Amino acid sequence: MKTIPDYFGKLAFDDRAMRAALPANVYSSLKKTIEEGCELDLSVANAVASAMKDWAVAHGATHYTHWFQPMTGITAEKHDSFISPSPDGGVIMEFSGKELIKGEPDASSFPSGGLRATFEARGYTAWDPTSYAFIKGKTLCIPTAFCSYGGEALDKKTPLLRSMQALNQQALRILRLFGNDTVKRVSASVGPEQEYFLIDKDMYLKRKDLIYTGRTLFGAKPPKGQELDDHYFGTIKPRVAAYMEDLNEELWKLGILAKTEHNEVAPAQHELAPIYTTANIATDHNQLTMEIMQKVAERHGLVCLLHEKPFAGVNGSGKHNNWSLGTDTGINLLSPGDTPYENAQFLLFLCAVIKAVDEYQDLLRMSVATAGNDHRLGANEAPPAVVSIFLGDELTDVLKAIENDTPYNAAEKSNMKLGVDAIPKFKKDTTDRNRTSPFAFTGNKFEFRMVGSSNSIACANIMLNSAVADALKDFADALEGKADFDSALHELLKDTIKTHKRIIFNGNGYDDKWIKEAVEVRGLSNLKTTPDAMPACLEKKNMDMLISHGVYTETELRSRYEIMLENYIKTVKIEALTMVDMAKKEILPAVWRNASDLATSVCYKTSVVPDLGCTGEKELIKRLSNTADQIAIKTDELENALVKLKMISDVTLEAGRIKDDIIPKMNALRAFCDEAETITAESYWPFPTYGELLFGVR
Ligand code: ADP
Ligand code: MG
Repeated sequence: MKTIPDYFGKLAFDDRAMRAALPANVYSSLKKTIEEGCELDLSVANAVASAMKDWAVAHGATHYTHWFQPMTGITAEKHDSFISPSPDGGVIMEFSGKELIKGEPDASSFPSGGLRATFEARGYTAWDPTSYAFIKGKTLCIPTAFCSYGGEALDKKTPLLRSMQALNQQALRILRLFGNDTVKRVSASVGPEQEYFLIDKDMYLKRKDLIYTGRTLFGAKPPKGQELDDHYFGTIKPRVAAYMEDLNEELWKLGILAKTEHNEVAPAQHELAPIYTTANIATDHNQLTMEIMQKVAERHGLVCLLHEKPFAGVNGSGKHNNWSLGTDTGINLLSPGDTPYENAQFLLFLCAVIKAVDEYQDLLRMSVATAGNDHRLGANEAPPAVVSIFLGDELTDVLKAIENDTPYNAAEKSNMKLGVDAIPKFKKDTTDRNRTSPFAFTGNKFEFRMVGSSNSIACANIMLNSAVADALKDFADALEGKADFDSALHELLKDTIKTHKRIIFNGNGYDDKWIKEAVEVRGLSNLKTTPDAMPACLEKKNMDMLISHGVYTETELRSRYEIMLENYIKTVKIEALTMVDMAKKEILPAVWRNASDLATSVCYKTSVVPDLGCTGEKELIKRLSNTADQIAIKTDELENALVKLKMISDVTLEAGRIKDDIIPKMNALRAFCDEAETITAESYWPFPTYGELLFGVR
């Protein structure tokens, strides 16, 4: 039997494959490009392309594609075969450096938010050598960035790479101040924990809502939900275990470090976490993981739901984005050190994150804003829509001591000064208690928990990297050239803590009292929905920051604003239309049929035995008919509201109308339909119920 190390990464053109396939000089130039971002000249690119093609063909590939991440949030690919005609009527397999480096897909069908007029349909893709090429099916996939001809980013990778660059630049300035001249590169590391639901495919196919929208739009609460807490970390059912095994194998072949798997809180909910890697690769791998999760599910007669809220009444799914800063020399800058000197540096990076999250809380919130995630944030289960940081009591006390020039604890004689070896070693279990915080320090990394399960993690990390780069820049500006570095650093951290401590909250993030305090006393923002959150994208302070670090241009930001809102509008519209369709064509006929069969039976029974009361049946006929009337009315109201929506052409206004008018009408319709489900006989109900969906995989 093959062991994991035998096949791990077999389908990735990773360092091992490159070293084996490339001449030494080509390999070292490519390495330099990967590690230091140097340009690759065409002769080297040709050699790499040819070796890559030979490797891919040897592994069964016939085609190649530039694999990119347009603003749709999913990945795109256009396959070209390697074949090239030879004069003798046959073909040879060819792949040039030019084809490796640059592609020209037709960009006109991808969202661009007005960035690219349709006559200028062509965009180009550019190879990202920092993420390994891989084989999917029979195609060699080359990770690429996707831009318009004017150079504007049309994807999520380009700004992510730019934000990593900005972070690297500013973090290096800080390290130099601490006398570190050996580190060449600082990068963000990310480990995204992916939650998902698995349901039976036959049942899925009977529900239009799942097919069209990825979530249930109707469904009464089943007798059993997640109240017994018997699913979390529970024994994995055989069918699910077989799925996970198959999934792991597929991921490992691609060099994806799938590590942890377990059942989650809700029935049918599970989680997969990889071992962390650089933000860029983590993003590529997470996109691939989501795709493969769905593909493997098919093979097992299952459907993998990545939606943030597939079922009302049980937990939704998120993606915990574990984030830290690491050097090329293997140091985690968010890990408290062993020496006073290391601790001072740790505190600086920690304070930079605190400042960044406080100043750009609205951008972080915006980075996870989607129609799907709106069901989760603030819905009493996932983190609230208010961004705050959990530090834990120990670290909070350390910061308090710095702020007030007081001893860190009773045992400590001297006041808390930087350079004093007073930072406790955190054990993971003492820091990771709080599961309600949207942004928690967990010992040596931060866990951003607001990301939605179907979101690309790119956006969250773009904003996080940029905001922290900005804080580090301010720190470097303040510290560079200071004669007394230690005092200057102490003052800087003191000021930072004073100004930004309002973002630190160690209590229960779901508590209504906290939301009130956060907003009314601390002045934190509470952006509940996507239309509330998106304007942060265009706010001057945010635009200035992102533009100054070269992460986005103004045009790109404006286009992103449009695209995100358009996406919100389209998503909810599809949901509303699906509701109308299901209510009219499935739910109403079922309820009517049930009522009419009952009425027929009452007529028949009373004609045979005239003194029968049939009060139970008659009561039910009334209830069924009345509920059906309400459903018909609410369906009409929703339909009319959708028609009126057509008159609005501005995305901001339209999104506002969706939030204030369409969604409440959808909720009203759902309430009557769910009530109907509880009184309609099971044999009439037109699609699988929550109970069947949630407990149907054995
Ligand atoms: P949990 O949060 O479920 O208790 P862990 O904290 O062990 O689990 O890990 C969750 C995720 O965090 C994993 O993907 C792991 O690889 C990632 N992770 C661990 N250390 C770091 C780090 N320094 N930077 C980024 N991610 C990390
Ligand atoms: Mg975690």
